[in-house]
Amino acid sequence: MSFTNLGLADGIVRAVTENGYTTPTPIQAQAIPAVLAGGDLLAGAQTGTGKTAGFTLPILHRLATSGTPHASATAARPIRALILTPTRELAAQVEESVRTYGKYLNLSSAVIFGGVGINPQIKLLKHGVDILVATPGRLLDHMQQGTVNLSKVEILVLDEADRMLDMGFIKDIRRVLAVLPKNRQNLLFSATFSNEIKALADGLLNSPAMIEVARRNSTVEVIEQKIHPVDRDKKHPMLAHLIKTNNWSQVLVFTRTKHGANKLVEQLEKDGISGMAIHGNKSQSARTRALSEFKDGSLQVLVATDIAARGIDIDQLPHVVNYDLPNVPEDYVHRIGRTGRAGATGEAVSLVCVDELEMLKDIEKLIKRKLPSEVIPGFEPDLNAKPQAIQRRSNDAPSRRPQQGQGRNAPAKSGGAPAKPNGPSRSFGGNSTARPAAPHRSGGRGR
Ligand code: AMP
Repeated sequence: MSFTNLGLADGIVRAVTENGYTTPTPIQAQAIPAVLAGGDLLAGAQTGTGKTAGFTLPILHRLATSGTPHASATAARPIRALILTPTRELAAQVEESVRTYGKYLNLSSAVIFGGVGINPQIKLLKHGVDILVATPGRLLDHMQQGTVNLSKVEILVLDEADRMLDMGFIKDIRRVLAVLPKNRQNLLFSATFSNEIKALADGLLNSPAMIEVARRNSTVEVIEQKIHPVDRDKKHPMLAHLIKTNNWSQVLVFTRTKHGANKLVEQLEKDGISGMAIHGNKSQSARTRALSEFKDGSLQVLVATDIAARGIDIDQLPHVVNYDLPNVPEDYVHRIGRTGRAGATGEAVSLVCVDELEMLKDIEKLIKRKLPSEVIPGFEPDLNAKPQAIQRRSNDAPSRRPQQGQGRNAPAKSGGAPAKPNGPSRSFGGNSTARPAAPHRSGGRGR
């Protein structure tokens, strides 16, 4: 199977080939023909599967080959495709893909999101674009100001729909849907299918084609995963030790809270390790700068919270560290999906303290495997330490105000309850490769 066989326009195949892709990924092989056929689509796929090209390529083809004549040569181009994403970073990334794959076509695109000035966006929109990528909040701001016209949208994409709902965007999405033309093609991408997503899909999609690709971590065994048991107050020295002894030059580190991310950056700085934090309280320019320095290799460590890191795509990222385990088990899969992308090998390590053993259990249940555990000599955890409860709730903010009863401060879906202290039966996972330096633990499992 090649991109040419999928019936895409020559200019698109050329751009894709120049980008180094030779074979469509499974989601692309299925989604591209379905979208080209013109019907609605419900796709179960997450970041890392190649889903962006899965919808971008056929959209570009459809728009390029079915030109709507403009009312006049001077009239602004109407927005013909609208792509909604949960985060600013993902929006920017998707629009970059649109530009990359559409470079040989006569189509224009723009991205709009919050945290940056609205006036340049107004100018762009006034000029007219064929494809608009947006976060829901800022799009709504433009709708309220009358600076965007969505009356000619032919194709709507909801990307990472589950995350948009988690972030409390459902009302915004419904407001957007209300102003779109009734007759259009709808594509919904989601990594998970909650009842809420099903309800949204039922109301939105018309006899959709359905595609589901396996979660990356259940099929692609290119990510080496392990946990390092550690005391809660030794995580920072352990991370610095790992970075230095292994000479990690590009490592993405996840913390649970924004405050934790800032603090860790400061601590690493004192160890001579350069890092920057990316989270909802950082200005958009700081987020953009941190991400671009990290991507080009000049920044050694990027410390991120889950929401800010959603959808981040970095070629050949070798190391992901869960400094804290995520509140929501599904986020573990998203986090480690940052590495081992597009066939590259990668390593994901989790620093797990006694407070996080319930979270670890939930993750292992979700991914249906025990994570191997390795004690790092010199960081043997205290087996008598008592677990402390962790607030397991969403801690980072979406790029805009929350909606009543949901959004940034709502309990995370599957992590609403505080962690239960789990007493003496606790375990740091199976397949332990603890070295002799670790004196504790009898009976094969654990540290
Ligand atoms: P996505 O799931 O859209 O975030 O894409 C994940 C990664 O896969 C990105 O780095 C893409 O550049 C890469 N990718 C997408 N399609 C292909 C392909 N057909 N062959 C190789 N890499 C791809």
